[in-house]
Amino acid sequence: MKPRDRLRIAMQKSGRLTEPALDVLKRCGLTFRQSRDKLFCFGEGEPVDLLLVRDDDIPGLIAQGVCDLGIVGRNVLDEFKGVAGDAAAALTEWRPLGFGRCRLSIAVPQDVDYTVPKDLDGLRIATSYPGLLGQWLRRNEVDAAVVTLAGSVEIAPKLGTADAICDLVQSGGTLVANQLRETDVLLQSEAVLAGPDTLPTDERGDMIELLLKRLDGVIQVRESRLLLLQTSRTSLDAVTRLLPGGPQPTLLPVAGQPDQLMLQALCAGEVSWRQLEEIKKAGAREMFVLPVEKMLA
Ligand code: ATP
Ligand code: ZN
Repeated sequence: MKPRDRLRIAMQKSGRLTEPALDVLKRCGLTFRQSRDKLFCFGEGEPVDLLLVRDDDIPGLIAQGVCDLGIVGRNVLDEFKGVAGDAAAALTEWRPLGFGRCRLSIAVPQDVDYTVPKDLDGLRIATSYPGLLGQWLRRNEVDAAVVTLAGSVEIAPKLGTADAICDLVQSGGTLVANQLRETDVLLQSEAVLAGPDTLPTDERGDMIELLLKRLDGVIQVRESRLLLLQTSRTSLDAVTRLLPGGPQPTLLPVAGQPDQLMLQALCAGEVSWRQLEEIKKAGAREMFVLPVEKMLA
């Protein structure tokens, strides 16, 4: 593989992960010039380019060194690792990204009796994840036939081509619509930043380290809110006790009002109206709740 001085990230060309992946990269300060063929996007600010592909191709592109990193579902990454064996052993999840959440589950027709995995003995199970399903069947000592399908797995029992399925589930609505019942979860999945487990030793390694730091700053604060308020020194204890969890608040003097303080607190999640009203009752005023965009500790 020819050495490259620009980092190349593979991501899904069009699908559930496309928009949230572009959004997280943008929050990390990466923007791209859309090319006409939309397969390759040149990075404008930083030396980082995008390759837009089918999600199933992403682990292979990283394993071959065509791309340095990829944004892909854990389901696709783990399936690749299971099937590709040694070639993929060095692929790692660098960061979970918190979107594209779903699970890989076994489901059976609603009228089928099922209590333990062994009940699947002798049945045919349709899936697009033969590697992950095979591992689970072996672990549970189930002797079932795996029917590999590229798509429309959920209708296989109705078509008579399988007795059960192993497929991705998000809300469960698709299962119910097909009269199926979820019985076992094989894998909890979400989009991850995947890459080789050792960083390249050239500039690309430095760029990956920088990107990981920025990602941490983006992921950590995504749910955070900055709470600003004013309180008298006498109410401070009561107000502080009501603050939603997070690090110690910062206190600042208010010019010309020696008995007043400005309080600033980073809260781990949403701050509700009810919480604000309680804090106000305890003596706070001039309260602001702000979203946090980035953090660099
Ligand atoms: P392509 O192969 O063309 O890139 P796809 O049809 O395989 O697209 P999508 O349906 O867009 O892919 O799903 C991409 C990823 O989104 C999945 O691999 C999975 O990680 C995640 N995902 C989240 N919820 C679901 C769901 N309900 N069904 C399927 N995938 C889901
Ligand atoms: Zn796919």
